[in-house]
Amino acid sequence: MDEGVTSLLDGRAADAPIFDPNDWRLSDFEATLCAETRSLAQSKFAGRAADIDREARFPSENYVDLHDRDLMGICIPSEYGGRGADLRTYMLAAAEIGRYCGATALTFNMHVSSCLWTGVLADGVTMTDAQRAEHATMRERHYRRILDDGKIYSQPFSEGGDAAAGKAAFGTTALITEGGWIVNGKKIFASLSGHADYYGVLCTELETPDSKPSRANTMYIAIPKDAEGVSVEGTWDPLGMRGTVSRTLIFKDVFIPFTEQLMPRGVYFHAAKQWPHMFMTLTPSYIGIAQAAYDFTVRYLRGEMPGTPPVKRRMYPTKQLAVAQMKIMLEQTKSLWFQSISEARPNPGKDSMLRAWAAQYSVMENANEIAQLAVRTCGGQAMLRSLHLERLYRDSRCGALMLPWTAELCTDMLGKGVLYEAGETDED
Ligand SMILES: Cc1cc2nc3c(=O)[nH]c(=O)nc-3n(C[C@H](O)[C@H](O)[C@H](O)COP(=O)(O)OP(=O)(O)OC[C@H]3O[C@@H](n4cnc5c(N)ncnc54)[C@H](O)[C@@H]3O)c2cc1C
Repeated sequence: MDEGVTSLLDGRAADAPIFDPNDWRLSDFEATLCAETRSLAQSKFAGRAADIDREARFPSENYVDLHDRDLMGICIPSEYGGRGADLRTYMLAAAEIGRYCGATALTFNMHVSSCLWTGVLADGVTMTDAQRAEHATMRERHYRRILDDGKIYSQPFSEGGDAAAGKAAFGTTALITEGGWIVNGKKIFASLSGHADYYGVLCTELETPDSKPSRANTMYIAIPKDAEGVSVEGTWDPLGMRGTVSRTLIFKDVFIPFTEQLMPRGVYFHAAKQWPHMFMTLTPSYIGIAQAAYDFTVRYLRGEMPGTPPVKRRMYPTKQLAVAQMKIMLEQTKSLWFQSISEARPNPGKDSMLRAWAAQYSVMENANEIAQLAVRTCGGQAMLRSLHLERLYRDSRCGALMLPWTAELCTDMLGKGVLYEAGETDED
């Protein structure tokens, strides 16, 4: 850890990794990247998180730090000058950020997703030689913006209908016109709205205004924040993840040139089918929150929580039992998640898919369960707003609501997946 970081910690010890590199057999690259994100987030993001949450404002200053530390291109392939992290490496490094500021980790995920889709995931997806060449040119343009100028991308997919759950064509449309598209539509819960430089929008390409929308014609396009016809609507005053600033984005006759494609025509649709583990990228923020709620409880019961009197509460058997429950749940969650992100690959088998849904469900629900156990166990003084546990509790509730793999949809897909083989019905 560098000197600047040590002084910002104000004499406090640096936290241990969520995944000890030796115990979990991380690669050197994974261990190094996790150490980088952890030291940055512990030294800088943690101290800012309370204000960001209270004011429900976007953590712009954290993005300056991420750019300064060469982390904005964490998942940009190394041949383009990025850090070249694959899906698992990114997820492990991002969890360390979630531990100190959930909203930063979640918004960072939206940014990084644009690099994952166009980077390591696209590399593993079937494309023709012509598409591959076209893709190389288009992603270079986006990567240069990110690496050279610190530009931020977001990922507004949700529309309030079935599209974000992968069950219908996106209602946001891109009508082909001379040299580009005319985009119209609305995205709800668009994290980073008004703050990302480019919105990585999923929409349905139409040849004519009367064309029938089809999921196979999904386009992935970068829409500049300041393009004519782009506006941000509504307020943002939610329970948790307040720093994500997930307001509503409106696109009204926005002209976007063909050069702003993030993936060649038709490729996103196949990439999403071939790389389902990509939808797990919402989980690292919540792994971090689960770890943070557990860490809080241990420190608090040991009388070591900064800003509180050094009163020990660890001698009560009920506290010990509760901490044991939390530890069991944390280890179960981490282990299942680690296994699932370790086996992520294109076209996973059925068992791997079932495990991915089980892992997603476990992370999202257990993060909240661990946080609520932490509140109950630490008690009244620990949930005052002067401490960060109540924020962890509120942030932890949001994960299970996020499409396409909400906790409900995970159980739905798991139940059907376990009891039916592909194509089976009860008609026969
Ligand atoms: C903090 C936060 C940040 C977010 N940031 C982003 C972002 O950056 N980009 C983005 O695209 N979205 C984002 N979202 C949106 C999120 O993914 C959901 O789209 C959003 O929460 C809307 O949820 P809803 O409960 O209103 O959905 P609804 O569509 O009302 O669904 C309600 C519930 O019904 C179930 N359900 C939905 N569709 C189906 C179906 N077809 N079959 C069976 N069950 C179904 C699901 O369990 C879902 O939770 C964010 C959400 C939160 C909370």
